[in-house]
Amino acid sequence: MTKNVLDDVARRKMMAQFRSKDTKPEVMVRRALHRLGYRFRLHRRDLPGTPDIVLPRHRTIILVHGCFWHQHNGCRDARMPRTRQDYWSAKFQRNSERDVKITAALTALGWRVLVVWECDARKPDLATYLASVLGHVPSRAGHTEDEETAAV
Ligand SMILES: [Zn+2]
Repeated sequence: MTKNVLDDVARRKMMAQFRSKDTKPEVMVRRALHRLGYRFRLHRRDLPGTPDIVLPRHRTIILVHGCFWHQHNGCRDARMPRTRQDYWSAKFQRNSERDVKITAALTALGWRVLVVWECDARKPDLATYLASVLGHVPSRAGHTEDEETAAV
């Protein structure tokens, strides 16, 4: 009896964790890319800013930006909080400067940098958008799994 209750609690906890993880914009983008057959690496520490998603074959980097933290222009999720506005505007300013710096550094290294906004990552046409921006999916033939990690 006790065991069942605990299992139940543990399961609910786990489900809740999965749910919140599943709706994370970065995970949505990763899933869409995976479904489309793209190979990518995550959080490469050897690149400026440890970019979220790296597609070596396309020489493309995808940064998934939270609309609030990165102040998506004109987005309803980017509203300034009513309190501590000095604190927030300083923080947003720092984030934005960092974004500019990282994008410039990556571009200088020959990478194409795509920004996917959190609100766009939740749209049903995300996969269509990604496919149109990234273009051709290289054939899987001859590629090994460990050559490029497709962790989803
Ligand atoms: Zn947005």
